[in-house]
Amino acid sequence: MRTVILAMLCMALPQTCFCWGFYGHRKINELAVFLLPPEMLVFYKQHVPFLAEHAVDPDKRRYALAEEGPRHYLDLDHYGAYPYTALPRNWDSAVAKYSEDSLMAHGIVPWWVQVMLQRLTKAFREKNQSKILKLSAEIGHYISDAHVPLHASHNHNGQYTGQHGIHGFWESRVPELLADRQFDFWIGKAQYLKRPDVFIWDRILESGAAADTVLRRERELTAAFPADQKYAFENRNGLLVRVYSSAFTKSYEQQLNGMVERRMRQSIFAVASFWFTAWVNAGQPNLKALNGAEFSKEEQAAFEQWNEDWKNGREKGRSCN
Ligand SMILES: [Zn+2]
Repeated sequence: MRTVILAMLCMALPQTCFCWGFYGHRKINELAVFLLPPEMLVFYKQHVPFLAEHAVDPDKRRYALAEEGPRHYLDLDHYGAYPYTALPRNWDSAVAKYSEDSLMAHGIVPWWVQVMLQRLTKAFREKNQSKILKLSAEIGHYISDAHVPLHASHNHNGQYTGQHGIHGFWESRVPELLADRQFDFWIGKAQYLKRPDVFIWDRILESGAAADTVLRRERELTAAFPADQKYAFENRNGLLVRVYSSAFTKSYEQQLNGMVERRMRQSIFAVASFWFTAWVNAGQPNLKALNGAEFSKEEQAAFEQWNEDWKNGREKGRSCN
């Protein structure tokens, strides 16, 4: 009886989801390190634990900072139909056309990635180790978010189509279940991006184009799948949690022709390429001779505060996507 009550309680809880899930973001930053050239690898490899741990800071910060939310998504479908030419790719032109408030209301991820690239490039020029690490971890997060199809759709959690939970399903459940077992992460090398602005816009446009498939395939599979086998219960830290079943999850990724794997691979490549581009644009500083290795007391306090806010679940603004 207790189990049943607990199960019902868990089903009633709103599903909190984080872009790519914590697992996915950590994995993407970690694997991106190994696409870097030797001059960068020698430094980044030592700091894999930091880059993985802090890959999720931007999500944690959403609890403390209202303006953080829009940096993780862009509701492309708010701007008409693919390829959304009504929306200027240049920030100033977009502000002139729609106003900053309106842009913020529908997400700004491709522009924010470019801001982060400038900041990371500056940190390389200054040879500031703590800034390089913090900004590398964080830009990895935003780039990866831009690769998630439901981060480019206003129906970001299937809330308009009766598919509530699909956000976390695509970006958390699928990779958590399948990445270590069957995804191929042999990706090659980071590339220098001559036009990082065009590159990140191309990725978010791909996400926008794929969003419909993400939703449609789940709908079709639900209709074809035995209703009592779509979900299962798993014990997580002593709590019984309702999850999409393994069979449903595997079938979904198959129906998507490996889309989650493909987008995860592309995220890893993109993160490494942005890190590499920032380093090249900063004049390829010697990463064996950096300064500013320590985080300031304020920065350390901020890390702890984001963690606390996240644990307490005081999110400001949109929780999912
Ligand atoms: Zn995010």
